[in-house]
Amino acid sequence: MGTGSAKTGWNLDSSYTSLPSSFYTVIEPNPVNHPKMVIFNKQLAANLGLGADELQNDAAILSGNEIPDGSIPLAQAYAGHQFGNFTMLGDGRAMLIGEQITPSGERMDIQLKGSGPTPFSRRGDGRAALGPMLREYIISEAMHGLGIPTTRSLAVVATGEPIYRDTELPGAILTRVAVSHLRVGTFQYAANWTSEEELRALADYAIDRHYSEIKNNDNRYLSLLQEVMKRQAELISKWMLVGFIHGVMNTDNMTISGETIDYGPCAFMDTYDPETVFSSIDVQGRYAFLNQPGIGGWNLARFAESLLPLLHKEQEEAVKIAQETISGYPELYKRQWYKGMRAKLGIFNEEKEDETLIQHFLAMMQKEKADYTNTFVALTFDKEHALSVNPDYARWKGSWQERLSRQEESEAAVHQLMRNSNPAIIPRNHRVEAALDAAVNGDLTAMEELLDVLSNPYEHSEKQTAYAEPPGPECGPYETYCGT
Ligand code: AMP
Ligand code: MG
Repeated sequence: MGTGSAKTGWNLDSSYTSLPSSFYTVIEPNPVNHPKMVIFNKQLAANLGLGADELQNDAAILSGNEIPDGSIPLAQAYAGHQFGNFTMLGDGRAMLIGEQITPSGERMDIQLKGSGPTPFSRRGDGRAALGPMLREYIISEAMHGLGIPTTRSLAVVATGEPIYRDTELPGAILTRVAVSHLRVGTFQYAANWTSEEELRALADYAIDRHYSEIKNNDNRYLSLLQEVMKRQAELISKWMLVGFIHGVMNTDNMTISGETIDYGPCAFMDTYDPETVFSSIDVQGRYAFLNQPGIGGWNLARFAESLLPLLHKEQEEAVKIAQETISGYPELYKRQWYKGMRAKLGIFNEEKEDETLIQHFLAMMQKEKADYTNTFVALTFDKEHALSVNPDYARWKGSWQERLSRQEESEAAVHQLMRNSNPAIIPRNHRVEAALDAAVNGDLTAMEELLDVLSNPYEHSEKQTAYAEPPGPECGPYETYCGT
């Protein structure tokens, strides 16, 4: 059934099938009626070594109607804690078509999301709606623009078939690109439903694929835990620094590689409020903005638990090692976050009192209901902002300027650091919604413009100004839906 040709550039491998067969199920494609390309990421296609024109003009492969040469289509097995409850999951609506070896030698998973039912679908239809797939496309590409590790989006294809949620919606398939789809939940699956030998095979695979530098360490599985912890601390601190709220930080939505994955009810915060929750299903606020670092730690503890048999042959000793390691996470996270916050304020070196300076600034922001992104930008360009009315602000500004004068770097260097650390724009919810409304109705202009400005959020140029506007009061509080 292959259609691969030199022109389309597929160079697929399937290292995942070297894992024990309990980790995946080879599946048949589920063809759709009238596949139509809605949006296509030419730049990403080129980076992957794929023939952009051929793929863009022929939706056969990216709809799952045809399988490229070298593909072994499969659905991955995994488990996960969903809002705290442990359950078996697996790719219920995704198909891994393979690992593309790029011209620069990288190995990238190419996955179709919304590609139809699999043995893991349970009661789901295996499909996805056009709006949410376009939304994942926008937010993941925006995250990439912001310099935050993330899965990427290669294309969205409309299936030409309706799907049924609360109402009838147009179906679509997203092509997602990831350094891998290994999740904390993949390890939980291994620990709960396979043998120790299979768990070890998975851990060795993850090390080979993402952390080959630790391969020969004395206790490489402990090193794996430490490295994943480090990457997640970095990742979550980056989310926090730009005001990103993932919305469903279930353990199946946390990668081993440290990429952001599974954009469901995620959104960016406009007004600074640490308790922000956008997701309509997160009634307890488990995944509220300020809970994210802690949830990261909770998820990592689940990862550590699943590694126990590999950490030490005596269980008691293994638990001790795991606990000791995990107890280092809060400090690891905190260091990363303060480092990023210092940069946002133009601070190069480190002083203990920086923490107070930073917390004071955020407290004023919260009190004045200031726009998170715009306040930092205004500070960068020494413009008026919402905090100016706060009676404490003048004194804070004095301390901040004094702090800046205690470092060697020039004013110009400080300004440059702040420009590079404070994005002029984020994907504002009202802008994203407007672009999606038009796109679902066939007009991609607004979405393409939005993607264009979001691809370079640190440009600080004139064309970004309109996109930096916070929503007007007419927009009301924003709510996201899993709406999958
Ligand atoms: P998510 O909320 O996207 O992380 O998905 C959680 C789990 O539900 C994963 O195992 C998905 O594959 C599965 N899932 C979500 N939507 C569907 C659907 N429409 N059909 C089948 N499985 C689904
Ligand atoms: Mg998921």
